Amino acid sequence: MEKQVESIVRQVVEDVLRKKGFAKNERRQLVIANWKMNMTLEKAEVFLEQLCDNGENRTNDVVICPPYTLLYPMNKLLQKRSKTIGLGAQNLHTAHEGAHTGEISAAMLKELDCQYVIVGHSERRAAGETDGMVHEKIKRALEIGLNPVICVGETIEQREQGFTNEVVNHQLLQALEGINDFSKLIIAYEPVWAIGTGRSASPDEAQTVHEAIRLTLSEICGTDSEAMPILYGGSVKPDNAGILSNMKDIDGFLVGGASLVANDFQKIVGTLRKGMDS
Ligand code: PEP
Repeated sequence: MEKQVESIVRQVVEDVLRKKGFAKNERRQLVIANWKMNMTLEKAEVFLEQLCDNGENRTNDVVICPPYTLLYPMNKLLQKRSKTIGLGAQNLHTAHEGAHTGEISAAMLKELDCQYVIVGHSERRAAGETDGMVHEKIKRALEIGLNPVICVGETIEQREQGFTNEVVNHQLLQALEGINDFSKLIIAYEPVWAIGTGRSASPDEAQTVHEAIRLTLSEICGTDSEAMPILYGGSVKPDNAGILSNMKDIDGFLVGGASLVANDFQKIVGTLRKGMDS
């Protein structure tokens, strides 16, 4: 009985969304570079020069998340080279401040002009970050005015057992419980098995999960969900970005490996804009 009610509710929400026809190009599209523990200042300078010389400084759909040590110089470089490329961090701590050796707080990121912060990346979850911590980090980010990029995704075992949607829905529900400011949220669907493996989700696999995420978001935050970008991450390269970006519910990418090479990253950003035009 419960299942039947759930399925009727889902159907009604789906119909409403379909009728409203919230178009993909009404949502913000963006590409976020996650440099992880890569790059030096010298390499970052060269990267930015190449990216900006090729015209990317005109865009407002690009965010770079360098390692903590590069946040300060990158902020200065971006001020000189680009008015539109956003700056983000790869993590933050759950506490406001205190005795947490080696950690970084939301306020510290804000002071460096960060606008974004990645939360719940699978590499951090593998290092012990729980859903509860992800939730606290989202709260810290929102309190200070940062846009949290909330990563969710299943392992290969979970996918093979048919639990993809359950896992992703659970992560979203835990992350967003009690949150009521949805305007700054960005979701990134990152299947764990696709990260850094060279094996991307197929466009249909990714679209299926993105559609399920959009439905869950609509249940969590109603019509506010419609403007929320859902990015795909996991072995995005110049040669698969175009076809992925054409999928209805893919609003951009979170890019690891391919974001280290300016030319590749630029091609990925370019495919997104084509997706928007079509
Ligand atoms: C990531 O780590 O967020 C990621 C998507 O990595 P890659 O693009 O290298 O798979």
